[in-house]
Amino acid sequence: MSGLRPTRSSTNSRVTLLHPETKPDVKPDVAATNGFTSLRRATRSTTRTEPEASSSNSTLDLSKYSYVEPARKRVKREVKTEDEPLVEVKGEHASPVRRRKEKAAYLPAREKAHPEPPKWREQYALIERMRAGIDAPVDTMGCERPLTMANLDEKTLRFHILISLMLSSQTKDAVTSQAVINLHESIPGGLTAATLATAPESTVADAINKVGFWRRKTEYIRGAARAIVARPDGDVPQTIEELCEFKGVGPKMGFLALQAAWNINAGIGVDVHVHRITNRLKWHKPPTKTPEDTRVNLESWLPPELHRPINPLLVGFGQVICLPVGPRCDICLLGQQKLCPSRVAVNPANRKEVAYRFTADGDVKPKVEAKPKVEIAYEQDEVDLKPGLQVGQADREDTLQGEATVGAVSVKLEP
Ligand code: SF4
Repeated sequence: MSGLRPTRSSTNSRVTLLHPETKPDVKPDVAATNGFTSLRRATRSTTRTEPEASSSNSTLDLSKYSYVEPARKRVKREVKTEDEPLVEVKGEHASPVRRRKEKAAYLPAREKAHPEPPKWREQYALIERMRAGIDAPVDTMGCERPLTMANLDEKTLRFHILISLMLSSQTKDAVTSQAVINLHESIPGGLTAATLATAPESTVADAINKVGFWRRKTEYIRGAARAIVARPDGDVPQTIEELCEFKGVGPKMGFLALQAAWNINAGIGVDVHVHRITNRLKWHKPPTKTPEDTRVNLESWLPPELHRPINPLLVGFGQVICLPVGPRCDICLLGQQKLCPSRVAVNPANRKEVAYRFTADGDVKPKVEAKPKVEIAYEQDEVDLKPGLQVGQADREDTLQGEATVGAVSVKLEP
């Protein structure tokens, strides 16, 4: 049966089984002369006169069904960087980080002071109270306090501060801090303007390749080093205008560098946190669009003695509580006392726990000390322990305090 195929006559419904090699026994002359055939046709009739449909004479317009790629819609995106102005990127699939933009222009002071926001003193005082009860990354690894600062002469320290600030944009404080340490350790002679100016580009790039925009920053910090070496004093400049001449240094960095390196209070260092939080508090009317607009507004009415502390105050507050996305209005005293016009409802159950010690009534809860961490290093397999001391005892913080060497076992307690 497998070699046979069924067929069906158009004149009757009987099915005939044909072998593939069998040719149908058709006599077209008989069919043509009589108009019909008495012979039972074994397969499709050859007398059929209607034309076979073919692609060549089909009336179907296939062009109507062909795929046409839709026209691409051009969209605008705005990308904000910390120290650089908004970058406008056109095109649906354009990468937002590829285009370089001129740095923010340094704006002159306002001719007419911006009016003081009515409740700014209460708001500022509450933020100070909250800041006293939180530990923010900026408090320990702020870029104006590089961890390399121990044993540095003043000129080198000023240079480290400037480099730390230049690496800090779009980068977490811990990463910036490590990059400065890497530079200091990998460049022969340590990190100074003279050594950085002559250091191979690959060495610099390898040391800072964890920070944001590291390729561009490699170029910027080497350029700043060369410019400083070329100065008569070989030191970090003391004016905002001179600092802003360095590629990659804008007004925010310049003012922070003057404050941290030279103790010169020439203006407010407005970064994204200061810009965002002062706008959330509605201190600007109308709202400001750039950190530079925010700076000139604030400098026109904020008392000068607050020009320096407002930056670390709001940066730490923005890192822990008034976050860029999902601010913690549930624990914020401004939100609880309805002193923030931008507060939003937050379900704390869905949020990460925040360690803070402030309370609504002004008390600061005592800081919870971390438990000592015990590390044991085994220097050899066979060790002689003091009578009564087992290796496992090292885990008991009530048993061991400080540092001790027991036989070949070194025990270290870390606070
Ligand atoms: S209430 Fe919310 S938005 Fe307002 S300052 Fe506090 S955390 Fe920021």
